[in-house]
Amino acid sequence: MLAAVLRNTGDQDLDVTDTIQINDPGPDDVIVKITHTGVCHSDVSAMNGTIPQPAPAVLGHEGAGIIEEVGENVTEVAVGDHVIVVWSPPCGGCKFCLDHSSPNLCMTLQFGSMMIPHFREGDVDVHAMAGAGTFAEKTLLPKQAVVKIDPDIPLDIASLIGCGVMTGAGAALNTAKVTPGSSVIVYGAGGVGIAAIQGARIAGAAEIVAVDLNDDKLDDARRFGATHAVKPEDVDGAKLEITGGDGFDYALECIGRPQTMRASYDAIRRGGTACIVGVGRAEEMVEFSAFELFFMEKTLVGSYYGGTDVRSDFHKLLRLYKQGKLDLEGMITRRIKIDEINPALEAVRKGEVIRQVIEF
Ligand code: NAD
Ligand code: ZN
Repeated sequence: MLAAVLRNTGDQDLDVTDTIQINDPGPDDVIVKITHTGVCHSDVSAMNGTIPQPAPAVLGHEGAGIIEEVGENVTEVAVGDHVIVVWSPPCGGCKFCLDHSSPNLCMTLQFGSMMIPHFREGDVDVHAMAGAGTFAEKTLLPKQAVVKIDPDIPLDIASLIGCGVMTGAGAALNTAKVTPGSSVIVYGAGGVGIAAIQGARIAGAAEIVAVDLNDDKLDDARRFGATHAVKPEDVDGAKLEITGGDGFDYALECIGRPQTMRASYDAIRRGGTACIVGVGRAEEMVEFSAFELFFMEKTLVGSYYGGTDVRSDFHKLLRLYKQGKLDLEGMITRRIKIDEINPALEAVRKGEVIRQVIEF
């Protein structure tokens, strides 16, 4: 079958090939025919080693499709069901799923799913990015890694929920817990940042400031609910104008660079919350003064997959979409075919797009 494969970490391009086979499902697995998959910055990060990913691997982790085959123990979904792929599935039984109420942090299935090859090419094992591997006509997943949705939801729209939209909106709603009437600054207006802006808007933020290097992104941000949209050098002016210089109640960092993580912390007021959504490299460091941590009493919090319980949150986001409160259609900059993946990855590197969706 057709798939886009990362041959070696550091490669600039993926290899689009029809030589990949899918492994047989185990008793608790499903095979999903991928109809649509979004291209996320994390795919670029898996290529350049920012996100560790064994190679060769089928990349892609933001997908939706139709169940094609189920293992003998699977009763939760059936052949023909429409599903969204989950890249960090909750096992449902561990301490993170139950005691800590953080099913997004469950690693029981994710690590196994990342390390066990899902595909092969001849007799060579081929991995699946984040255990998902959606840049392929089909993928093999544990049953907990799919969420069944109504068949009337367009699957291109649904695919976006699988990563970028859940991550950004969830960071605002679940992790930072943006409150009505608050002031919010969002760094980065890509797919994740635009979803964070929409999450802040849904939460009732009074002011939402988008920050991006790219002028087109600033226009996009206003379209999705940003009340102000500025270049990084104009953040201090916006902070003065909106907060009298105190700083914003919330910052959501949706880029993944040490400088913008630090800038997010600096942009919030004493007692505010800076939520880090972007993914930087393991060896990159962010510095804090040993005095300011106590003195400023700021909350610095990471957000992994938008702090989601996918089993309920995916449906909540789709209801917001159906009511016209979450614009997903407008987030699709381009619809492309799998053989256009390399220019699409280049557009992500340049920050030119919100989301590009591959249609199989
Ligand atoms: P993207 O490339 O679509 O968007 C990034 C945006 O940031 C672009 O618009 C770009 O112009 C802008 N930008 C880049 N450098 C900038 C700078 N110095 N100052 C201001 N703006 C700048 O990326 P995305 O798909 O939206 O993903 C954003 C980040 O979120 C990535 O790091 C990705 O890996 C991460 N991510 C995290 C999770 C999670 O679970 N926390 C999940 C998915 C993605
Ligand atoms: Zn992603």
